[in-house]
Amino acid sequence: MVRLNRGLAAELGLDGEALDSEAGAAIFAGNTVPEGAMVLAQAYAGHQFGHFVPQLGDGRALLLGEMIDVHGQRRDIQLKGSGRTAFSRGGDGKAALGPVLREYLLGEAMHGLGVPTTRALAAVTTGEMVYREQPLPGAVLTRVAASHIRVGTFQFFAARGETEKLRQLADYTIRRHYPGVQGYVGLLGAVIDAQASLIARWMHIGFIHGVMNTDNMAISGETIDYGPCAFVDQYRALTVFSSIDRGGRYAYGQQPEIALWNLTRFAETLLPLVGGDVEVATAELQRFGDLYERYWERGMRAKLGLVTEEAGDAELARGLLQTMETGGLDYTQTFRGLARGVELGAWGERWRARLAREGATVEMRGEAMDRVNPVYIARNHQVEAALAAATEREDFGPFATLCDVLAEPFTERPGREGYAGPAADGNVGYKTFCGT
Ligand code: AMP
Ligand code: MG
Repeated sequence: MVRLNRGLAAELGLDGEALDSEAGAAIFAGNTVPEGAMVLAQAYAGHQFGHFVPQLGDGRALLLGEMIDVHGQRRDIQLKGSGRTAFSRGGDGKAALGPVLREYLLGEAMHGLGVPTTRALAAVTTGEMVYREQPLPGAVLTRVAASHIRVGTFQFFAARGETEKLRQLADYTIRRHYPGVQGYVGLLGAVIDAQASLIARWMHIGFIHGVMNTDNMAISGETIDYGPCAFVDQYRALTVFSSIDRGGRYAYGQQPEIALWNLTRFAETLLPLVGGDVEVATAELQRFGDLYERYWERGMRAKLGLVTEEAGDAELARGLLQTMETGGLDYTQTFRGLARGVELGAWGERWRARLAREGATVEMRGEAMDRVNPVYIARNHQVEAALAAATEREDFGPFATLCDVLAEPFTERPGREGYAGPAADGNVGYKTFCGT
């Protein structure tokens, strides 16, 4: 057992104490199937970097089952890295420790930041080596998700022309995630709304998913599949960290556009269910831009300490991004610094003139800004250091400390200064890897 997520266990109504044990590790490694579980691997298809693959599926994941949590929400419990399934193709179905810890850390960081996300319930090592470019220690992640229904799940049935199964899936999805919506157009609209909101949240905190393939887009609106993801440090709109994203398809600033592209693929799968009515689907898709802009602006106002709304606010926010890009400023520190009187030249003057038309006191505003502008994000060098200590030296201390820091990203704590800024060398040329 590397780590059991006690907080999440409690949310699921599980006995964290009892699970943080050898018996628990046996379950989380896939060696013991818990009572009542009906394990299965799910089929899905997907566009990977724009290319359609009719069958992907859970190649290294196994759904243990579902639980109703203490809030009455249904959650999937899934093992990732537990071995081969019917969908493994040429792969071994296993996972290496580094990517497992990375998913754990990044997911918990997102949760701490208030962003909808799948979460890690546990990480265990297997004691086996897995073979990638080199032998690596094996591990299994237990993932908790609102569901694992993806855009790619719909694509799987649509591509096979299995309209009745598609209808079953859509009906099930409506019942499970969007019980209030009217029909399949309503489902499309709800998913568009959830994604517009989600991507705006990513943009607010500087998160780059890195591999926004349609099979990695959850219908629930949760962030899913943490592979080569990372946070922007020095702000550049077209930041790419992923070693496999050579064309920059999934660059930071591309994410809203790619989300719409994926949603368009989703809309296409629903056409057989809406009598081929392309116009009605198109009308829904055309709402994405405005929805996204509204969510983005709302969040940016909060980050800038604005409570009232003025027509020029989005422009003002974009001006700050431009200032950061020109000045090579750190995204997270710049926002956090705003409430602390950081000097930002001409833009700073514009902002202060705008603030003068707000009612709030300086203290009230500062507190509100500190609740949305984090001190701590998953800094690339800290993530790498935690993963290196774990995989090279079996030292899980840095990973545990980083988990603790990221759980409370908005509260500055003495002794954690090293987690609040970019690497001294600026992480030049930093690359992330899928690790599959
Ligand atoms: P991902 O890049 O993690 O979204 O995975 C894309 C597809 O590759 C999914 O169908 C995975 O299940 C599959 N996959 C990734 N790694 C492995 C592996 N080690 N063994 C089998 N299938 C894998
Ligand atoms: Mg995936």
